[in-house]
Amino acid sequence: MEPRVKTSGARSPRMLVHMCCGPCSIIPLKSALKDRYDIRGFFHNPNIHPYSEFQKRLSAVKTLAGYLSIEIICDEEYRPTAFVKGMKASIPGSPKFPPKDSRCSFCYSTRLEETARTASLNGFDSFSSSLLYSRYQDHEEVKRLGVDLGKKYGILFYYEDFREGWQDGIDASKEMGLYRQKYCGCAYSRIERYAGEPPQG
Ligand code: SF4
Repeated sequence: MEPRVKTSGARSPRMLVHMCCGPCSIIPLKSALKDRYDIRGFFHNPNIHPYSEFQKRLSAVKTLAGYLSIEIICDEEYRPTAFVKGMKASIPGSPKFPPKDSRCSFCYSTRLEETARTASLNGFDSFSSSLLYSRYQDHEEVKRLGVDLGKKYGILFYYEDFREGWQDGIDASKEMGLYRQKYCGCAYSRIERYAGEPPQG
């Protein structure tokens, strides 16, 4: 994917913000960034499975963008097979049920790298991610990867601990009627959510 967006000519620093879903994007976009940066949202989440769930989260992101009157770039191609293959290849031994820390690191890296690459390609000054809002993600790992990828692509990774707005984000998502997911996103997290624990083997 080689998404290109028009530069706005605005004088505010331009930031591309990765949006993992609607609810988690509210605080990063609305409260912390909108008044200080010329922001664009970026939906790139090949981890989400199944297709019906992918569509729900994509729709929620578009709804939020409408509420906030911001432009978004959406990668709408659904390709979970490539994601799972890439993840397994990144983990030594290619386990049948990848452990959470290894698979999440790959997952963060995949999404952040595409955000950094797209931001760099389109002349943004910085990039960030709604992953920094979630209490369920490995915050330090997201931060570490973001900083490293910023160096790799020559673009600033904007870091802020958006978790401080946790309850405000939840309340706002309910007021907006945004779709609120029940599991993190990948097929493995779905199994863990509904089966309680990963299968053996
Ligand atoms: S649990 Fe969440 S962060 Fe981890 S791999 Fe699955 S979708 Fe990605």
